[in-house]
Amino acid sequence: MSLFQPAREGYRSGFVALIGRPNVGKSTLVNKFVGEKVAITSPVAQTTRNRLRAILTTSKAQLVFVDTPGIHRPHHLLGERLVASSKKIIGEVDTILLVLEGCETPGRGDAFIVNLLKAQSIPVVIVLNKWDLVNENDRIKRIKEYRTLVGNDDWLIFCCSALSGHGCDGLIDQISTFLPLGPYLYPSNITSDQPEEILLSELIREQILLNTREEIPHSVAVKIDRVEEVPLGKKKGDKSTRTAVLATVLVERKSQKGILIGKGGAMLRMIGQGARLQMQKLIDGPVYLELFVKVVPNWRSNPGRLAELGYEGK
Ligand code: GDP
Ligand code: MG
Repeated sequence: MSLFQPAREGYRSGFVALIGRPNVGKSTLVNKFVGEKVAITSPVAQTTRNRLRAILTTSKAQLVFVDTPGIHRPHHLLGERLVASSKKIIGEVDTILLVLEGCETPGRGDAFIVNLLKAQSIPVVIVLNKWDLVNENDRIKRIKEYRTLVGNDDWLIFCCSALSGHGCDGLIDQISTFLPLGPYLYPSNITSDQPEEILLSELIREQILLNTREEIPHSVAVKIDRVEEVPLGKKKGDKSTRTAVLATVLVERKSQKGILIGKGGAMLRMIGQGARLQMQKLIDGPVYLELFVKVVPNWRSNPGRLAELGYEGK
C-alpha cells in the first residue's frame, strides 16, 4: 500500500492529541481506539514518555492519535521536556481530546488545562473517562459540574470507559467529523508509527512500573541493545526461530539496581517474564529476553543520555 493514497470523496484524515493530567487514562483510550496495545499504561502516574502516534483507519477517516505525557509541574529536566512537548503538540494537531477524570469532581489541575486550551482555536472534545466508576445517581450532576468548569457550549462532552470501550465508538465518529478532508496519512494496516524497538522497551518499562516501588519507575530507562531471530529447534532442517531481545535497564543509583534485581534475581526474573509474555503477543511468536541492569548516575539530567534514549530535545 502506498503511503499517500489519493483522497476518496468525503474521506477525512488528521491528527488528534490526547491531553490531560497524568493517570486519567489517555494511553488506555488510545489502545482501545486502535484495538491493540501500542501505549503502555499503569496505575503509576507519568508512564508515557515518548511521543507515540497510534493510527486508526475506519471507512470514513484515518485518525492519528498523539498520546502525550500528562501536564504537570516539572521536577527534573525530563519533566520539563514532557510538559514542553505537550504544549508543542497542541499547535500541531487538528483536534484535541481533553481527557478528564470522570470519576472525580473537577479540580484545580483541570481548570489549568482548560484555560491553556481556551487560548487555542482548534476544536476540543471533552472525554469524561472512567465512567464505569461513576455511580448512576451521580452521573447527571457530574456532567453539569464539568459543563460549568468548561463554560463553553462549543466543546462536546463524551462519557467513556477506556477499560470497557463504552462510549468510544460514538466519540470516534464525532472526532472524525472534525478532521479535514484528506487521504491516508499512514498505510491503512498499521496501528503505530513507533519502531518495534521502542514498543519493546516500553513493554519492559511497563513491567518495572507494575512490579517495583514508587521510587524506581521515574529513574529508570530501557535501551534495547539487540533484536535478532535465532533458531528455535535443535533438529537439523528445523527452520523455526524465536526472537531474542537483549536490553539494558538504566537506573540512577546502586540501591535501585539492588531493588530491580531483587533477592537472588527474583525481581528481575518477574519483570523479564512479564515483559516477555507481552512481547510474544506483540511479535506473535516466541521470544527470548535477556535483561541487564546498569547504574548511570543522573541520566535524567544528562541531555546526551536523554537524546540517546529517544527523549526529544527542546
Ligand atoms: P495516562 O497517564 O493518562 O496515560 O493513564 P493510563 O492510560 O496509564 O491509565 C491510568 C490508570 O487508569 C490505569 O491503571 C488504567 O487501567 C486505569 N484506567 C484507564 N481508563 C479507565 C477506565 O475507563 N475505567 C477504569 N476503571 N480505569 C481506567
Ligand atoms: Mg499515558
